[in-house]
Amino acid sequence: MRRPRDKYAYQELVWGPEGQRRVRAGRVALFGLGGTGAAHAHLLARAGVGFLRLIDRDVVDFLDLHRTALFDERDAAAPATKAAAAARRLGEINADVQTQAVVAFVNPTNVEELAADVDVLVDGADNFRLRFLLNDVAVRAGRPLVYQGAEAGRGATLAVVPGVGPCLRCLLPETPPLDDAGSCARVGVSPAVVAATAAVGADLTLALLRGEAEAVAGRLCRLGERGAVATVRVERRPDCPVCGRGEFAALEEAPAPYVMACCGGRAYEIFPGGEAALDVAAFADRRGAKRVGEVVVVEEGEGSIVFFGDGRALVYGAGDEAEARALYDRVRGEA
Ligand SMILES: [Zn+2]
Repeated sequence: MRRPRDKYAYQELVWGPEGQRRVRAGRVALFGLGGTGAAHAHLLARAGVGFLRLIDRDVVDFLDLHRTALFDERDAAAPATKAAAAARRLGEINADVQTQAVVAFVNPTNVEELAADVDVLVDGADNFRLRFLLNDVAVRAGRPLVYQGAEAGRGATLAVVPGVGPCLRCLLPETPPLDDAGSCARVGVSPAVVAATAAVGADLTLALLRGEAEAVAGRLCRLGERGAVATVRVERRPDCPVCGRGEFAALEEAPAPYVMACCGGRAYEIFPGGEAALDVAAFADRRGAKRVGEVVVVEEGEGSIVFFGDGRALVYGAGDEAEARALYDRVRGEA
């Protein structure tokens, strides 16, 4: 009869007792628990990574279920926040792993705290606003970041090891359209490609935890359908604004107003810009609305809005961006 402490015996044969000790002592922050983020977290928990910070702003939607092993019909029906649902499920999978569920919009004011006291940052974002913010934080703190992304039938991963290899801005000097997050709704995403992308990403995270940063730095893996995989080395760009010139625009510049479609649920994310902070507790009392932890949920006609303390919101049930903005303005005007 095998004993619970033999749980990691077969992976220890691959990377040795010292590699295994490092994996068990490892601490990882996952930013975003959509398809790739959730699958990545799942693999790290199975491997026994010591601590996982599970960060996401959204709730589980039925639209998420085709591409994630972590969530099920109960989570979508509730609906549960992705962070809490992931923490609960990962605890059932491996009780050795300590998890911390964080329901939050990641933004310049909280990202450094969320990225503190971990060994690796994992990019599970669905938009380039957050990806570039994570890249800034990783380079400034000198902390490794695993970028991963998937849309339609393709995915990509890159290990960013500051001081050793290129950063995400070396790979993508031009800013992609920031409404990129709507790509799921426009072009969809293949569940198998999501799983493959997250598996390559998790392999990079485990290698970084084992101290193999030199070997993985700058390795860009592109995955496609029907078994297409290509890996190339990305070089550092001396003129890169982030890792070359040390300019951290995503982290230091005041965020501009925006409305963008979210990947997964049928939501729009809105930030009105300027001094938008909201006293969530007082707003919930005035509206007689439901307060869930640090957020307030306002039901309005056929739609609903989840407000966060920094003024950002997720608007559900709007037909397009303009409708989402109008709904936000109407409800926020009463704040
Ligand atoms: Zn760079």
